[in-house]
Amino acid sequence: MTENDSTATTIVRGTVVTMNSARDVVSGGGVVVIGQTIAAVGTFAELSALHPGATVIGASDDVVTPGYVNGHQHVTGDRLIHSCIPDAIDSQEAIFGWAVPIHSAHTGDDDELSASLAAVEALTNGVTCTLEAGTVAHPERVADALQRAGMRAMLGQWGWDVDDAPFAAPADEVLDRQRRMLDALPPGNGLVEAWVTLVGHTLMSDDLVVRASALARSRGVGITFHMSPHGGDAVSYVARTGRRPLQHLDDLGALGRHVVVAHGVHLDDAEVQVVLRTETAIAACPWAYLRLAQGVSVAGRHGELFRRGGRLALGCDAENAGDAVDILRAAALFVGLERDRTMDAFSITGHHALELATIRGAEAVGKAGSIGSLEAGKQADIAVHDTSGPQWLPLSTDPVLQLIWASDGRSVRDVLVAGRHVVADGRCTTVDVDSLRTEATARRDFLLRSRNA
Ligand SMILES: [Zn+2]
Repeated sequence: MTENDSTATTIVRGTVVTMNSARDVVSGGGVVVIGQTIAAVGTFAELSALHPGATVIGASDDVVTPGYVNGHQHVTGDRLIHSCIPDAIDSQEAIFGWAVPIHSAHTGDDDELSASLAAVEALTNGVTCTLEAGTVAHPERVADALQRAGMRAMLGQWGWDVDDAPFAAPADEVLDRQRRMLDALPPGNGLVEAWVTLVGHTLMSDDLVVRASALARSRGVGITFHMSPHGGDAVSYVARTGRRPLQHLDDLGALGRHVVVAHGVHLDDAEVQVVLRTETAIAACPWAYLRLAQGVSVAGRHGELFRRGGRLALGCDAENAGDAVDILRAAALFVGLERDRTMDAFSITGHHALELATIRGAEAVGKAGSIGSLEAGKQADIAVHDTSGPQWLPLSTDPVLQLIWASDGRSVRDVLVAGRHVVADGRCTTVDVDSLRTEATARRDFLLRSRNA
């Protein structure tokens, strides 16, 4: 079915993990998809009798879940040097020896290629919605690539007005770039829509963040930026303002339900309170913290935010910070870290991990009304897990525990986004990834050479 076919009927078959409010799991189930939308969820026997001509995707032993939500992902900058940045470097070298020169050397073609490859990895791991957070130069090329791949996405043009690194600009100019993206990709106008995206950290003036937050509010979209994956942001904010970062941003009126803060690992008690009171969402990227040695297992507050009703999404960050674009891996790690840290088996469970990967992640990015669960009327964003692999043998009596603790995105075989069958038999149907291999390798070599030029 194509995304434009509004009448074709498909039944996605398997054990349906709905993630609806009752967390119903339907064994021998099915999800009826008509056009872009879920029309019904029930038993396959009932649904196939009602829709005898429907195309069937999946089999009785498959596990069917909502598509996964990635609340923080860079799809450019790192992709073409995937897993090349060494572990044993400090943050200054990571930024000025790698991130800045690599971003500076990126062409529009590189951004588009990067986004295509990132989308293929995400989609084949069941990720159907991505909040993109780090495109500096060619966001329109990224939007084209994600649209073509069939990924649901929110993106903007990364901006900052402090420091003299390449691409820094006065606040007016940064905001003009954001407005251009919002004009080109307004919400509700297709799978890919614009958000306001700043780098965050110490790279935004008070003037910029206040006006950027207001711009997002006025356009009815979200804003995202980075803060406090490590302790350095707090040191800088205290030195400049006398307040820690999230307290200061709250003083400015810049936080709220339209804000997704990436990371928020190193928060003090007052900042945790600010996050909860303002209902600001946090995108937690646990693999990035482990890869970059940022101290989440020592200082992280995400588990507490979760237990106190905070709004949380999971993210995979970048291909040199967590590396794998697989939300299920992040979900298992998030929950595992918190269970271990608290030494409390009741604190958080594998079932919560799937909530974070689906409905809670969707809520955190402002989209729980349309995605994040398998319910009639929602968009047909669906992942189908093949359970023929050894990690699924024998099938558990609790498919959620087996999905989180024994499996990951690699068992995804079919994926629909807005009803479009974008992954079939484990292959992305929208992007011919084999045709991109030679170019990706050549651009990797060019980018690595350009670092040393
Ligand atoms: Zn990031």
